[in-house]
Amino acid sequence: MRLFDGHAILRLALLFTCVVFAGLIPEIISFSGSVFFVVNYILAIGILLYLALFHEFPVSANIRKLRNDVDIPEVTSVEPSRDFQKDLIEKDEMLQMMVDASSDGFWTFDVPTGKVYWSNRVAKLLGIDPDQVDDTFETLKRCVIESDWEVFRKEMTKSLNENRPFNLSLRLVSASDSPKELTVSGRPQFNEEGRPIRLIGFLGERMSTAAMERQKYYYAYQDALTGVYNRKFFLEKLKVDIDNAAKRPDYMFAVALLDIDSFGAINDSFSTNFGDNVLRVVADRIKGSCRDNDCVARIGPDVFAVVLHNIQGADPDDDLMPIVRRLHNKVKAPVNLEGRELYISVSMAVVVNRDVDCVEDIMANASAILRDLKKNGDHGGIQFFTGGIREKAMKLYKLEYEIRRAIQAKEFILMYQPIVDINAGNSVVGFEALVRWNNTEQGIVSPAEFIPIAEETGLIVPMGALILRMACEQTRKWVEQGYENIKVAVNFSAKQFALDNMVEDVRRVLTETHLNPKNLKLEITEYTAMCEVEKTIDIMRSLSSMGLQISIDDFGTGYSSLSYLKRYPIHTLKMDKSFIDHVADDEEDASFARMVISIAKSLNLDLIAEGVETAEQLEFLRREGCRQIQGYYFSKPLSPEAAFEYLKAHDGSQVSV
Ligand code: C2E
Ligand code: MG
Ligand code: MG
Repeated sequence: MRLFDGHAILRLALLFTCVVFAGLIPEIISFSGSVFFVVNYILAIGILLYLALFHEFPVSANIRKLRNDVDIPEVTSVEPSRDFQKDLIEKDEMLQMMVDASSDGFWTFDVPTGKVYWSNRVAKLLGIDPDQVDDTFETLKRCVIESDWEVFRKEMTKSLNENRPFNLSLRLVSASDSPKELTVSGRPQFNEEGRPIRLIGFLGERMSTAAMERQKYYYAYQDALTGVYNRKFFLEKLKVDIDNAAKRPDYMFAVALLDIDSFGAINDSFSTNFGDNVLRVVADRIKGSCRDNDCVARIGPDVFAVVLHNIQGADPDDDLMPIVRRLHNKVKAPVNLEGRELYISVSMAVVVNRDVDCVEDIMANASAILRDLKKNGDHGGIQFFTGGIREKAMKLYKLEYEIRRAIQAKEFILMYQPIVDINAGNSVVGFEALVRWNNTEQGIVSPAEFIPIAEETGLIVPMGALILRMACEQTRKWVEQGYENIKVAVNFSAKQFALDNMVEDVRRVLTETHLNPKNLKLEITEYTAMCEVEKTIDIMRSLSSMGLQISIDDFGTGYSSLSYLKRYPIHTLKMDKSFIDHVADDEEDASFARMVISIAKSLNLDLIAEGVETAEQLEFLRREGCRQIQGYYFSKPLSPEAAFEYLKAHDGSQVSV
């Protein structure tokens, strides 16, 4: 019996009470006079004496935490084993294990004291100095991947509580891409009362088949950065759920996509390392708020996906909503990293399987929802799928696929709309290259149908590269045919303009197509020009120093400030059609047009009026001094052959733009 454990104190207290009560016996006899009472009094003292000396008090069932957070049952009546090595040698079982595991390290964990004994080989296996080994699990914890440590910790706790051995793999924290993997096993030992007193085990380098399988599986199906599943696994798992739903009409599941808003800005403002850590935190949070069997994956750089299996309840919306909200709230809580508190916004799209029945549809719908949320500036929102979104999603999904295919098949063609100088006999000074999609089923498709989706999906970048090359090749042919001063304007989207290697790409295309830069103009919208002003100015400078010209398209629609405009190394303003439409009959539009004309004059820029359709509009512009005109009044966009005929008929090679 231990001197100061809780039961010993209780026994002492009982003994003390017995002595006091026994001392009172003479008084009790003289006062009471009843034999029956006195006998009962003495009997009570006897019972107390029995309890104090012989009774086995039940051991507390409370679980307590020892060092390293291993939850074990209380073991008060067990003597601590003080000499672990001695214990180890004494026990046959342990000796056997030492022999078996002679090429491995072995370890024991003494439950009453919480101390750990590591054999000499452990340091070598863990790749640390022997003097870094101490008598706690910290030795191991420091060396292995956090999630593996957690598994190990839980297995130890289970092993002690449920009396079963365990065997698992631990990945060492390692600088290399393929972490070294160790196997660790453990087995609990119990005293005569059935209470755990020790865990013994070994640590080995041998890679079990299971560990090898796990590693293979890990690389094939897991996201190395966050440890959650990857896109491939997610899509396979989704397919299984869809098959289940096909067999059981009542089977309900949902897919949620979580997109971290402005993740690029986090990377840019801090570092990619910091961004990686944010992703890890978000992945952990999602995993933590889902059920064990829900599949969590990272399917894009900053997009996570969850399959919420088997949603039950009469109304799945009612059942799903709290889950979704809880998940969303948990994920978007401020992130504390590297001493900083970072507020993150997460947009979430949810699709339930009763609305859709194939992997592609689910993913397309969910992505369409996210796109919609972002487009409407609804960052950090949650949006459930609705029928309207489905149709839109399907249309967009198909269109995106079709555009991708059309780029490969080179189905995009260019039309050329003449720009004429009304002060030089309506001669052609240049063309604007305008893209069309020569679709096998629908015929010629207008850019309004596909440019916005190409912009949204980033497909505008490969498409734009193709357009630039086609335009340069065509222009060179016209130059070779004697129109040395002809200028062709090519529209550039904001995404193309923002590419890091944009200037180099343009230079390369010019070189490869043997086109003099003076024959090329780049058109960017006023809106694009106003984004990232300093960067835009730098790019414009590089472009104009190459000798090509820059036009600001749709001028008047983007609220650009004059002071900025002055700083831009641009050559031309193109007045937007919407102001031309009513110049002849609306005084306000007429004043605006006059103002644009005077801005161009004062900044010494060329001005092109686009969308001129009538003689009245033309007359107004002529009167106000705008000489370059583009519009149906002169010509619609033409095929290259027709444009060449137009050029020959309205020879403008002697006039420079
Ligand atoms: P934009 O660059 O402002 O091009 C002018 C648009 O006005 C062209 O429409 C042209 O056909 C149209 N237009 C010109 N004169 C008249 C007129 O008198 N009346 C009417 N009703 N329209 C006239 P389009 O070809 O449909 O192009 C629309 C927009 O699509 C372009 O506006 C441009 O923003 C975009 N786009 C066209 N081609 C390309 C391209 O190759 N790359 C990029 N990124 N965008 C392009
Ligand atoms: Mg244009
Ligand atoms: Mg325009």
